[in-house]
Amino acid sequence: MATKLTDLSKLCVHTLTTKPWDLRECVENYNAAGIQGITIWRNVLENQNLIDAKKLFDDHNMEVVSIARGGFFPSIEKSIRNKAIDDNLLAIEQAAAVGAPVIVLVCGADGKQSLEKSREQIKEGIIKILPEAKAAGVKLAIEPLHPMYAGDRSAINTMAQANDLAEEINSDFVGVAVDVYHLWWDDNLQQEIMRCGKNDNLFAFHVCDWNVPTTDFLNDRGLMGDGCINVPQIRSWVEKAGFKGYNEVEIFSDKYWAMNQIEYLEKIKNAYLNCT
Ligand code: ZN
Repeated sequence: MATKLTDLSKLCVHTLTTKPWDLRECVENYNAAGIQGITIWRNVLENQNLIDAKKLFDDHNMEVVSIARGGFFPSIEKSIRNKAIDDNLLAIEQAAAVGAPVIVLVCGADGKQSLEKSREQIKEGIIKILPEAKAAGVKLAIEPLHPMYAGDRSAINTMAQANDLAEEINSDFVGVAVDVYHLWWDDNLQQEIMRCGKNDNLFAFHVCDWNVPTTDFLNDRGLMGDGCINVPQIRSWVEKAGFKGYNEVEIFSDKYWAMNQIEYLEKIKNAYLNCT
């Protein structure tokens, strides 16, 4: 049984959840709402002075939980794979500059080659950027994505695959991000979460819900309680596995982006306390 969340101290909101807001609006409004954790989608850092961004977080006592996203390593084209490495090195620099301890990796896939080949290139890519990540003190979290994305966004689709990869690479700086949206259907989820925690590889926990029916495979995520995922149960497994970090609310939703974002933030807090 999951214990109920009684306060907002472990609540982190992902900036893409409130997509209409720029970085300053996210920080000021989260802070005003009593939220202390923020995950940054890299789009809001574009054209920003990172020293100013860091000051903005510090001035509002905002803890940067992670930065999203790195990854997209596989391609049949060598030049694209090289470009991906450069982009990941930039992500490491950005994470270090704003004080983010973790980069979430959307690992990538190329539908023109096999999943096995894409997984090989993901492993090579992570190993290539690992020295810079270590030097910067930034950890890399492999996020398994729902299999509906296996053709283009990620060849890593289950916790078992993510655990295997993290264990093969075997570094304190490489672990796994558990996202309920991508993993709720997996009947091995509980045991794979335990395995992940046992190896100290559980770096992040993302929450939202799966709407029934789902009308868009990218931007129709639900607020916790809207759909069919037993979020409190999965949170209880993650906590049992030893995870003590933030619960990150990551909702891509055309429906919620269309509403008043201040009112939406109140809905998020409510859903966090009652359905997470
Ligand atoms: Zn996620």
